[in-house]
Formats: sequence, structure tokens, C-alpha cells
Amino acid sequence: MKLLYCTFALEFKHAFGVHGHTRLSTNTVFVRAEEEGVFGYGEACLPEYLGESSAETLNFFKACEPFFKEMTSAELSKNGAHVMDTISDHNNAGKAAIDIAINDLRAKLANKTFREFVGITNSSPMQTSITIGIDSEEKIIQKISEAETFKILKVKLGTADDKGLIRLIRKHSDKPIYIDVNQGWTSKEQALEMLFWLSDQQVVLVEQPMPRGMKNEMRWLTKRSPLPTIADESVKRLKDLVALDGEFSGINIKLMKCAGLTEAMAMIEYCRKYQLKVMLGCMAESSCATSAMAQLMSLADFIDLDAPVLYNNDPFYGITYNEGCVQLNSSHGIGVEPIVQLFHNS
Ligand code: MG
Repeated sequence: MKLLYCTFALEFKHAFGVHGHTRLSTNTVFVRAEEEGVFGYGEACLPEYLGESSAETLNFFKACEPFFKEMTSAELSKNGAHVMDTISDHNNAGKAAIDIAINDLRAKLANKTFREFVGITNSSPMQTSITIGIDSEEKIIQKISEAETFKILKVKLGTADDKGLIRLIRKHSDKPIYIDVNQGWTSKEQALEMLFWLSDQQVVLVEQPMPRGMKNEMRWLTKRSPLPTIADESVKRLKDLVALDGEFSGINIKLMKCAGLTEAMAMIEYCRKYQLKVMLGCMAESSCATSAMAQLMSLADFIDLDAPVLYNNDPFYGITYNEGCVQLNSSHGIGVEPIVQLFHNS
């Protein structure tokens, strides 16, 4: 199997604020895998907080190349993840890019959509949440109105006045809300009081209320919480999920954290076995990686796949949005195609 890569800057429609700083674009690296003249595509989305740079990701791909050149996509679907984990113990986004491309290619060689290829028969559209970022009152009202077609809002808390922010949103919208605290609450008693207050505000779930290290406090909180608690920062890969032991009632799976579709499916299976809720999320990815994750959406309880709507230069055709629902197309593989020339044969 042959691999080509290219770096790309995804440009936001509006400046994007996270963790106290604002950015205008996201670096991403696209991968194209080729076998028998068929192309499979993948993406490593690299927002700064992930700690994986474009240069590091390209070096990782170069380290993988000698192994991949000798193997077919069929062999790689069995051994690729192990080979990549042996080469590097981080680079999860880089691993995800290659794993997505291999899975896209394998399904295309079988003339199937990826979901059919893995035995998922349901292709129904599903509602996704759309994130309303922390901003001024005026901007928040503007964002709520721009998100008009979406039926579920996702709101980031952990601010100086969380209740004030929710009251403000409730003045302008009665849509169900997913809350993401991004580890922002540090007292379990206050967190519990907030969870009960939020449960009266048509909030559906709360993501990562407390810091990753506060394991016993999280177990205490989940046991008493009136709302599902969903792990994000606490769980990257399957081994983190296995180690949770009652900390959360569900997890947010993201391809860039879990090293690709192969491990995401294993994590969903684990969650089903142990009655954990499944949310499928994304980093600020293009339609390439988001469409890959959307192939699994009928296996999930909650969908948070809104990244492509944030950009004005998304270079891939893929999933579409209709009345707040993510819609899959019937193209083979993960259902994506570059709409600009990205890869140059060397
Ligand atoms: Mg989160």
C-alpha cells in the first residue's frame, strides 16, 4: 500500500476561542492510501492543545512507510494498529489518519460504504449538537440565531458565572443542551449542586465536569448525578476506558484521541457490554475525518459532529447537514472525495 500526505490549514468562518486563546485556523494533515488504483483518505487534525505538530506527524508517517510499503491494506487492517503503536506511543492523530485511510480503502475495494463493510445497516440521519462557544452576551445571542437549524446546543461551562450563562441562553432558546465543562469544576459538592440545577434547565448530559486526575471525586459525583456524566479528557483510547471503573456513565469517543475507526469500534463494543453511554465527537476536523466518524453514528446515543460547519475552505465533500441532522451519502468507503487538488505525486 502506498501513502501520500499533504499539510493543510483549515480556515474558520469566525475566530475560534478555546482555553483562553483564539485561533483563525487549524493545521491538519491529509493522507491518501493507494492500492490497485483505488484511493483511501484519512486526516490527522492537529489543534495546538493536542500537542502533535504537523512536522511530528509527518515524521511519524515517514517512520511507518517502510513497513506499510511491504504490506497490503488487508494485512494492515489486521496488524497496522500494532505496527503504529510499536513505532510511537503517542501520535494518536497521525495513527487515526492512517487507520481511517486504510478502512476507507478496504471498504472501497469491497464496493461498499464503510458502514456496510462492518455490518452496520442503519443509515438514518441523526441530530448533532452544535457548539456555542464562550463569548460576549451579544455574540452568544448571534451564535444562537446562526445555529437556528440545529436542534441541540452544546455549551461550554467552567466560567465565572455558569448559571448566568445558562439563564442568558434560556432567554433566547429552549433547545436541549449538552454541557461541556472541560474539567472546569474542582469541588464535587458544588459540581453536584450544579448538576441538579442544570437538570431543571433541559440539559441532557454533562461532559468532563471535573479534572482528569480527580478519579474518586468523579466516582462520587457520577453515583449521585441526575444527568449522565460523559468522559472526554479522561479517556483517549480503549485502555483508558477499561480503567475508568465507575468514574463516568458514558464517554465521548473522538478519532483523533483513539487512533482511528478500528479502535473507536472496539470502544463502542466495550461501552455496550458495560452499559456505558456512547457519544461520538470530533476535534475541529474537516469533512474527511468527521464523515469517517459519522459512519458509526447509528451505534451511538449522542452525536457531536459539527466541525465542518465551522470552516469556509473545507477541501472534502462528505457528510451534509439538514435541519440539524448529519446525513450520510451512499459513496463507497467513508463517503468523501477531495474537491481541490491536495496530493501531488512525487
Ligand atoms: Mg469535550
